Amino acid sequence: MKNIEKSKLKALSDIASIDISLEFNDVLQSILKFTCEATGAQSGTIMLVDESDNNIRMVASYGLPQNYIERVYDAAKKAGVPLASSPSGTVLETGKYYLVPNVFEEPKDKPWYDLTKELGFSSQLFTPMKKGLKVIGLLNVYWAELRRFTDEEIKFVTIAASQASSVVQNAKLCGRLENNVQELKQYKENLEEIIKEAHKKLYDSERYLRTIIESSMDGILVVDENGRFEFGNDSAFNILGWPEQELIGQFFMKVFPDDMEKFMLERWQEVQNGIEKPYETKIITKNREIKYLFVSHSPAILNKRKKYVVVVKDITEKLRLEQELKESYEELKEADRIKTEFISNITHELLTPLTSIKGFVELLNDEAIGRINEEQKKSLGIIHRNSERLIHLIKELVDISHLEKNKLGLQFGLVSINDILSKCVLDMQPLAKEKQISLFQDAPPLPRIWGDEERLTQVIINLLANAIKFTPQNGKITVIPHDLTEQVKISIRDTGIGIPPDQLSRIFDRFYQIDGSTKRKYGGTGIGLSICKNIIEKHYGSIWAESDGNGSTFHILLPKLKTKEGVSNVKPES
Ligand code: ADP
Repeated sequence: MKNIEKSKLKALSDIASIDISLEFNDVLQSILKFTCEATGAQSGTIMLVDESDNNIRMVASYGLPQNYIERVYDAAKKAGVPLASSPSGTVLETGKYYLVPNVFEEPKDKPWYDLTKELGFSSQLFTPMKKGLKVIGLLNVYWAELRRFTDEEIKFVTIAASQASSVVQNAKLCGRLENNVQELKQYKENLEEIIKEAHKKLYDSERYLRTIIESSMDGILVVDENGRFEFGNDSAFNILGWPEQELIGQFFMKVFPDDMEKFMLERWQEVQNGIEKPYETKIITKNREIKYLFVSHSPAILNKRKKYVVVVKDITEKLRLEQELKESYEELKEADRIKTEFISNITHELLTPLTSIKGFVELLNDEAIGRINEEQKKSLGIIHRNSERLIHLIKELVDISHLEKNKLGLQFGLVSINDILSKCVLDMQPLAKEKQISLFQDAPPLPRIWGDEERLTQVIINLLANAIKFTPQNGKITVIPHDLTEQVKISIRDTGIGIPPDQLSRIFDRFYQIDGSTKRKYGGTGIGLSICKNIIEKHYGSIWAESDGNGSTFHILLPKLKTKEGVSNVKPES
């Protein structure tokens, strides 16, 4: 470049310093302008080959009308020659510059003489713009005067053309880059969308877990590996009785009273040794209130560090209630003991005079002391019946107090169920007759069994008394013994008021009566069946009731005797 004169060097440096951020056409326009000015040219043009149709398009012009290229094409068309035959066409074909010192002596320019004359230029320099070996356009410069081109001038314009070519290539590159940038932008936007979505999911699941943690009634805490509080839900701080900001970062011993220090440090040691054993402990709140907690914990890796998740339950109220319950249970037990003691004393005190009253009434009634009239006999009968009722009631009370003390002693021996049943039916006949109730006993012979005769009699009498009590006049009561393989069964069926299905088992509970009105109408204490059940169970038997629309049936099952030969060794009675 040493033979390029200074003004042209300046022009080249101007070209080099063109602001490339300008639009691509503006840059080419500037290159063309600097080239024309530096070479004293009257006009010039930069044209690019359109790869889609191989035509050339003007992308920059200097000192030429806007429709120059159209007119070039028109002139060629008019002359009937292809553009390829022009100097431009030659440069496009050869890739070499083409000099026209005098347009009007240049045969290739002939179709454009008129146009040239009109535009007023006489000499031309056509230079190729190349990409490698390929010609992508032309930078043409036109002078008004005839010209002898210097090498330096040619070189200068050639350099300008190659600069213009670089601009075009850069622009294409830029276009591609632009596309890439667009694609990247799109990709980035997609990525951002995905990240946003992932964030949202994370946020939702975090909020989900947080809601669970926050709505937990139990306190949930995270303690770091040094035993410092790191996190807690609202319940935790409520239970511990300290504000969050005064606990976070503090060693856990802060919430424990001094006397728990040894215990808690031992627990902490266990926790660190991986022992996940829950325990109960005592804490002290900020207001110096003592509370009791149930604590469980488990190790967890959070944020890549070892932590401990601790769950605390406030059991202060529960322990208080338990204590209260224990105390009331003790009180109740004591009251019950006193009551049983009282019943056992009072029944004894009542039974002695009552038995004597009953005895004297019988003496009076038998006229052992003196004659009595019918009216007096009737009254004595009433006294006698009522004293018997009272004695029966007191005996039940004695039984109950014995039952409670587990002292209902039974005298076992061989007993005849048939005898017991016949005796009971006989004894109860007068009572049944009073209500015109027929009382029958089916009599298949039963083997004798091992039992307490007096107590079994008590049971049958009780069941018959109930049957009579709850059966209206003209009813029917049947006693049916059954001889089963290993047991004997006694069923007492009545045609009375029946028992609702949901009460069938409850009637055997102590003091239970079906309802208040029953109690009022029929009297009684609700003790009898519970005593019966106890006596039968002491015989390893069972008792239950059934009821349908036609009354109730009470069943008793008692085991037969067992010997080496099998059951039922005792001969049936004839
Ligand atoms: P009490 O007869 O003194 O009330 P029981 O323990 O003998 O006490 O009976 C408890 C309850 O069972 C009775 O109050 C009655 O409601 C019901 N009950 C017992 N036997 C019969 C029966 N044969 N028919 C209908 N209800 C009966």
